[in-house]
Amino acid sequence: MIHITLPDGSVREYQEGVSALDIARSISEGLARKVLAAEINGEVRDITRPVSEDASLRLLTWDDKEGKATFWHSSAHLMAEALESVFPDTKFGIGPAIANGGFYYDIDLGDRTIGEEDLQKIESKMKELAAQKNPYLREEVSKADAVRYFEEKQDPYKLELIRDLEDGKITFYTQGTFTDLCRGPHIPNTGFIKAVKLTNIAGAYWRGNEKNKMLTRIYGITFPNQKELDEYLHLLEEAKKRDHRKLGRELELFAFSEKVGSGLPLWLPKGAMLRERLQQFLQKAQTDSGYLPVITPHIGSKQLYVTSGHWEKYGKDSFRPITTPQEGEEFMLKPMNCPHHCEIYKSSPRSYRDLPLRLAEFGTVYRYEQSGELHGLTRVRGFTQDDAHLFCRPDQVREEFKKVIDLVMYVFNALDFHDFTAQVSLRDKDDRSKYIGSEENWEIAEQSIIDVAAEKGLNTVIEYGEAAFYGPKLDFMVKDALGRSWQLGTIQVDYNLPERFELEYIDSDNTRKRPVMIHRAPFGSMERFIAVLLEHCGGNLPFWLAPVQAKVLPISDKFAGYAQEVCDRLRKAGIRAEPDERNEKIGRKIRDTEMMKVPYMLVIGEKEMNEGTVSVRKHGAGDQGAVTLAELVKDLTGLASRTSGEAAAATD
Ligand SMILES: [Zn+2]
Ligand SMILES: [Zn+2]
Repeated sequence: MIHITLPDGSVREYQEGVSALDIARSISEGLARKVLAAEINGEVRDITRPVSEDASLRLLTWDDKEGKATFWHSSAHLMAEALESVFPDTKFGIGPAIANGGFYYDIDLGDRTIGEEDLQKIESKMKELAAQKNPYLREEVSKADAVRYFEEKQDPYKLELIRDLEDGKITFYTQGTFTDLCRGPHIPNTGFIKAVKLTNIAGAYWRGNEKNKMLTRIYGITFPNQKELDEYLHLLEEAKKRDHRKLGRELELFAFSEKVGSGLPLWLPKGAMLRERLQQFLQKAQTDSGYLPVITPHIGSKQLYVTSGHWEKYGKDSFRPITTPQEGEEFMLKPMNCPHHCEIYKSSPRSYRDLPLRLAEFGTVYRYEQSGELHGLTRVRGFTQDDAHLFCRPDQVREEFKKVIDLVMYVFNALDFHDFTAQVSLRDKDDRSKYIGSEENWEIAEQSIIDVAAEKGLNTVIEYGEAAFYGPKLDFMVKDALGRSWQLGTIQVDYNLPERFELEYIDSDNTRKRPVMIHRAPFGSMERFIAVLLEHCGGNLPFWLAPVQAKVLPISDKFAGYAQEVCDRLRKAGIRAEPDERNEKIGRKIRDTEMMKVPYMLVIGEKEMNEGTVSVRKHGAGDQGAVTLAELVKDLTGLASRTSGEAAAATD
């Protein structure tokens, strides 16, 4: 008999050779019908494989991320089977599940190009094959047999993959008529796949290498029922409408120019206004929390990054060094602000009384990304971090962490992000050799993060082994209005840079000590944050952030003078207002202003001019009636002063 430990800690006895599916059945038939894969002693496996020793077991269903991954990867095999049936000479690369949902398969179609119609054909075939409930059968094969199989099939990609595999560890999986080289695991049979949608066709270099052949990548997603697919497609449609690249163009916030260079965003006046407002908002909060502003250059000597270790670690994947007419002089485009801030710390002697020292900078940094990886504002080559480095004594880490969490909460709240989790990344429990810094300091820092996160009531996930080699960290994963998760703010403890830069302070006992450094950025980067914010609110920015808060719309030229007067009054009161002076019908002016998602439209005609009023239209809410100029100024300045979720709600 063997002992199986379940996640709740209970232990059950089974015959040796029992399968996870048998175990599921012994618990309940309902569970057995739902289970997709099993985690056995930490390894995810097919549920039909025999278990021959004592083990801890987790049964994985659609509700588990590993269950979904197994489902989607198995769907890639199903798509391959359908492809082979529709286009028999297809050669296959790899077909993994995708972390944020669905799967793809990279294939070589020879000279054929495929389009939307073909996808529909493949989709229908997949549904037909799924309905056959074909089991995914696992088979161990020798390397020689594996090579023979794919030589006969003339599939060069699989042969290349086999070449790198160790004999004795090669497995094939077959469902229906399709056999694939794969280490698994898979769901029990294709019948679990009830809803299919192939979403996209793209190009992808074989093994991600530009020197290799460009293959066709087909993306798809599958679900265990039609309802979930419908919901997914609805979300996808909504996401398209909220795509920040589309909104950035429509709302005239930012642009890209091939001539300037890809991945280098250009902030247009309205976008710059938005960014400035966000900066001012955070700057004020930081000043209130004892941060000091600093400014550092966009380049730094290569030596700076040799000292920091960045050169060794990232140098070969960075922009090339900048040289000067002087021999041997080399500079790097700044990839991070930390080394510069370390040198600011060193600019004068520090005592224990000077700490914590909190240096803040909206620092623009440059990181090389392959052009294929670039995406709107979320993956760029130049971006501005809302960076700060806190230099403190080890006994201050807890308090500083607490304050940073407060600041991050304040920011998220003001911007209407209410659903987030905090991921605490700690050391590997078993291997502590790969981390720099004393055991004692790590203990303090790790425990502080865990305690403070609990104290603040954060919804926390602890991940062991995810800490950086230089210190533990806390990352905020934020859910947007469509339920998508984004990593935004981060707080990281660092024992490495103070060591490398030999940072010191004189302690109360007159000895020299190393400070601890905390890196933190509540937004992460201005670019990424604004992208997420735009998608979260669908471009309907809260009133206090809207680049244009009120648009004054005269019915005709006759009222241009009064329109200007209204604008001037509002501007004097600090409201961002502008007139629409075009010679257009009022209906058109209102429509265009609605498109630009301007929170307030102020319509002006004969009556308004004579009575010293404006007719107010709220974006998305329509006509609000007439108010006097004095009332209007009072209302709008009241709204503008509220940097909170309340203000955001008021503009909806
Ligand atoms: Zn597979
Ligand atoms: Zn840093």
